[in-house]
Amino acid sequence: MNLHTLTLTTPYLELEEELYHFSNPLALDMPYLVAGSKKAIQLLGLNEDTLNTSEFLALHNGEFLPKGAKPFSMGYAGHQFGHYNPYLGDGRAHNLGNVNGWNLQLKGSGETFYARSADGRASLRSSIREFLMSEAMYHLGIPTTRALGVIGSETEVLRNGIEKAGMVLRLSESWVRFGSFEYLYYTKEYAKLESLAEFVIKESFSHLQNDEDRFYKIFAEVVKRTAKLIAKWQGVGFCHGVMNTDNMSIIGVTLDYGPFAMLDDFNFGYVCNQSDKVGRYSYGAQPNVAYWNLTMLAKALTPILPQHLSQQLLDAYGEYIYPNAYIEEMREKLGLFEKLDEDTELITELVGAMQDAYVDNTLFFRTLSHYNGNREALYDICMEPIVIHNWLELYDTRLLKENTPQDQREKFMLTKNPKYVLKNYMLEKAITKSLLGDFSEVEKLLFIASHPFDELEEYEEYSQETPEIYKNIGLSCSS
Ligand code: AMP
Ligand code: MG
Repeated sequence: MNLHTLTLTTPYLELEEELYHFSNPLALDMPYLVAGSKKAIQLLGLNEDTLNTSEFLALHNGEFLPKGAKPFSMGYAGHQFGHYNPYLGDGRAHNLGNVNGWNLQLKGSGETFYARSADGRASLRSSIREFLMSEAMYHLGIPTTRALGVIGSETEVLRNGIEKAGMVLRLSESWVRFGSFEYLYYTKEYAKLESLAEFVIKESFSHLQNDEDRFYKIFAEVVKRTAKLIAKWQGVGFCHGVMNTDNMSIIGVTLDYGPFAMLDDFNFGYVCNQSDKVGRYSYGAQPNVAYWNLTMLAKALTPILPQHLSQQLLDAYGEYIYPNAYIEEMREKLGLFEKLDEDTELITELVGAMQDAYVDNTLFFRTLSHYNGNREALYDICMEPIVIHNWLELYDTRLLKENTPQDQREKFMLTKNPKYVLKNYMLEKAITKSLLGDFSEVEKLLFIASHPFDELEEYEEYSQETPEIYKNIGLSCSS
């Protein structure tokens, strides 16, 4: 299939009009393609060579609308840094329609009804970051929105200074956010809230369609998926940066990439978003923030799900759903096949030791994957090896209770502990080059990000500890 034969549907538009607003994308000046994802192109059933067509560029610039496309922006609200904001929505995004279960959305495509006097644009810098990181997260096995491609332009936007604008064409199986429900709850549009819930069930949880307890079960599903997602973030060291309820996906995928970061040295207190002065969204806070956000969703769902029922699920999140998801994730990273109660203690000790050891999160787990009793390689990567030494004593004892031989454990761990993650300094380098018209580094990162668990000899430097001057830098929210 090519872009001329692609046909989109717009099921979201069956919902009441308060939930969206029609407008057309506004094209950027002198657009050019920076990169496209062949893997994402396949999701839509398009031929890979679509990437090289002029329609592909025009699609990304909002100038080519596939058959059936009806550009619209979605309204939603949300708690931003703990404060309720009733007026959010896709201020700079246009949904085009759905194919193969994927909803296409342009981001940076000009002011919409929800723009609230902002410019409706996205910087090329943030567009490249979102494009690369969402594809990287997918290959790391972390639920996420996807991205088809990213374009740059000569259009200028004012951010930290004057920057060039870009656009990214995002894909998601659902763009509904926790904040979409809050929007209808706080305006007391309870009937519409119920239709939105029915829509979400139809679009994303179709096995619940005729279930009498479907509103309870959908919330249970959101709780479970959110717990799994956050456990994966914690395992890989992903910091979202802006975990507002409008950036929380109802299907439990990573949504809205802004000032995110992958951990350099393991650090619970690391805050990637420079605007987050109190560290509300620090790496270590993410599991609790997700709980708080789920609580806000539960409140918004009270017209269709009594609070005492949602409370049971919220309690379960804290008591065992999240802890179990996290322990399961970490067991895999540690290559533990047996499930023993003592593992919780082992994992708690590990993260305490990592906090004190000044050790690169990614490099630590990748090196540990090769552990065969010889500790030198692990000591070499820690500034404080003694704490890791103490933990390895516990790990050695625990490994005695495993029935799996070391070589098999190693093989498994190498599929769970990535060799390559995209750190911010790598993205910065790719952006700097792109701004000079050289997209080779974006291509390189896309390739590396698509093979995070492989050994890529020529890209060894991307698996090293982050250079000291680039560690733990914060990013501004402006994008
Ligand atoms: P974010 O934190 O990027 O997810 O954005 C929060 C809200 O602000 C969303 O409703 C966005 O659509 C909106 N927004 C952010 N930047 C812009 C912009 N440049 N123009 C219009 N709306 C924006
Ligand atoms: Mg957002």
